[in-house]
Amino acid sequence: MTHLVIVGGGLAAGSAAETLREEGFDGDVTIVADEQHPPYQRPPLSKGYLQGEEGLDAVILHPAEWYADNDIALRTSTAAIVLDPAEHRLELTGGEALTYDAVLLATGASPRRLPIAGANLPGVMTLRRLDDSNALAEQLRGGGKRLVLIGSGWIGLEVAASARQLGNEVTVLERDAVPLSAALGSELGEVFARMHREHGVDLRMSVNVERVVGEARADGVVVDGETVPADLVLVGVGAVPNTGLAEAAGLEVQNGILVDAHLRTSAPDVFAAGDVANAYHPVIQKHLRSEHWANAQKQPATAAAAMRDADASYAELPYFYTDQYDLGMELSGYPPLMSQAQLVIRGDLEAREFISFWVDDERVVGGMNVNVWDVNETVQELIRSGRRVDAAALADPSVPLETLVA
Ligand code: FAD
Repeated sequence: MTHLVIVGGGLAAGSAAETLREEGFDGDVTIVADEQHPPYQRPPLSKGYLQGEEGLDAVILHPAEWYADNDIALRTSTAAIVLDPAEHRLELTGGEALTYDAVLLATGASPRRLPIAGANLPGVMTLRRLDDSNALAEQLRGGGKRLVLIGSGWIGLEVAASARQLGNEVTVLERDAVPLSAALGSELGEVFARMHREHGVDLRMSVNVERVVGEARADGVVVDGETVPADLVLVGVGAVPNTGLAEAAGLEVQNGILVDAHLRTSAPDVFAAGDVANAYHPVIQKHLRSEHWANAQKQPATAAAAMRDADASYAELPYFYTDQYDLGMELSGYPPLMSQAQLVIRGDLEAREFISFWVDDERVVGGMNVNVWDVNETVQELIRSGRRVDAAALADPSVPLETLVA
């Protein structure tokens, strides 16, 4: 009987198991997940779940019984500690070993640590896991706390919005001049900065965070010589892919586990998907590592097919979304192409109701709709079509977007 093993307990692992059974694979499937929960998704952890508006059912993909009902061996609180590709063998914590016919590494990413004094004090947190969100919720749900956030990336800003909505004081400390400028550019990053300031966030840009201070617990952050008082400090300075297992096994690793368009690693019968995979993208002909929900949800279908020797490759357009206060946003596009593109705006930046397009050589390579709905599919079609578009028509709300695709 063929045995497929999935290492990881996030969305990519859960989606892989689901796809295998949906596609009629009737061999053995084992999931090895080091957290204590069945596979779960993370976006609600900084938004609805943190705010108490959504329950565990919005987070956990399937209850444990679902795995039993689908004849999937779910091994929670168990880590894979050694991968031996030559022997097709995995060693697990607890001394047990598994052999596999094919293995999927869906080990995700972990929060980047801040190399400053005081960063390990109690009261300094990161947000990646369900348990982190629970601990943060316990502090923030009653309101009245002083939260200092280090970093103004997506997670930092989502937590800032949630914390404000729960009645806490929020200070954000950021090294760059504009939040999200690496992802969106300064003009659009300023839209987010204005929104947070309007909601009472003390957003301090271009600052140098020196250290976290406190005796038994963090009670302040020193920034450019001044101490910002804190009841709680959250570090949100990005994530690093969990490549340790792959690296020790001798797999090619470069900003994640390197995989081809079929999501095959450099070792036979070893595949990778989700945040940990730096996958060759056939459309842009470059490797791309996407730390987004949609990628973790969709890539496993390709990996699951490849594990069963079917011919599939992953060529999806990257997609991301965020919700902060009353702003909802969807972003589709190829980051390596967007970074050199010209920005075209359709709509009203001040009112936070617009679509922005990234245009490179008269072709749309990225599009972001902010509080404008039911357009993302068309934006994606526009990008995929690779058609030449007229920037003036793109910016003109009276020109239906569909006419630019047709
Ligand atoms: P992960 O979710 O990181 O899961 C990997 C799992 O594998 C972890 O449980 C890890 O502990 C486990 N593991 C690692 N090594 C081993 C091992 N050796 N043995 C066993 N288990 C192991 N994306 C969006 O597009 N929109 C959003 O709004 C959004 N919001 C987010 C909010 C938060 C708070 C976070 C943290 C992320 C958010 N993301 C969002 C990103 C999205 O959640 C990730 O892209 C997604 O979680 C990646 O899934 P994954 O399965 O690849 O990895």
